[in-house]
Amino acid sequence: MLDADFFRRWMTATAVAVDGAAARLTELDSPIGDADHGSNLQRGFTAVRTVLDKEAPGTPGAVLTLAGRQLISTVGGASGPLYGTLLRRTGKALGDAAEVSGAELATALRVGVDAVAALGGAAPGDKTMLDALVPAVDALDGGDFAAASSAAEHGAEATTPLQARKGRASYLGERSIGHQDPGATSSALLFAALAETAEATS
Ligand code: ADP
Ligand code: MG
Repeated sequence: MLDADFFRRWMTATAVAVDGAAARLTELDSPIGDADHGSNLQRGFTAVRTVLDKEAPGTPGAVLTLAGRQLISTVGGASGPLYGTLLRRTGKALGDAAEVSGAELATALRVGVDAVAALGGAAPGDKTMLDALVPAVDALDGGDFAAASSAAEHGAEATTPLQARKGRASYLGERSIGHQDPGATSSALLFAALAETAEATS
């Protein structure tokens, strides 16, 4: 079972991964965006760590809900509301249980990813974070975090040949082809951090 501490460690591991990848995320956001994805997420997840330390929410649902709210309020740009919605809606779907199973987290993440699709109006194939998030939740299959992480990674890599149909990159039309999507790349980090946290816990 996964408790609030597990979720706090997952968010911390994500923040560490974002710190390490910030330069690359911004570099990916240069040719097909406005070169701020790394700094956007770095600011957001740094704020998430701070608020989680300060408020120490006691349930898995409360950890993710607070993290999501913090991302929405600190990250400008498209990715803040989208990542914020992912975490907030996943957290809400977990309810107020003190511990949740991997299968319950898998179900809740599906709710969160569906909310991202509803908010942004994107679908897999549009060259957005959904190209990593959807394969990841499809692979979760009741809590296989390692499979979800590798599916997210492959999904992110598979955005390179796609033409963007949503977000800033879509303004480039065919010129968006040949570049990996920054948001799909950072979504893979979120799932890598989840797999790493689960691995360290087992
Ligand atoms: P901005 O585009 O406002 O500068 P960021 O650079 O932080 O925001 O984030 C860009 C990422 O957000 C893109 O790489 C893409 O993955 C994601 N994104 C943009 N628009 C959408 C959308 N409508 N649905 C899903 N993801 C989106
Ligand atoms: Mg940007």
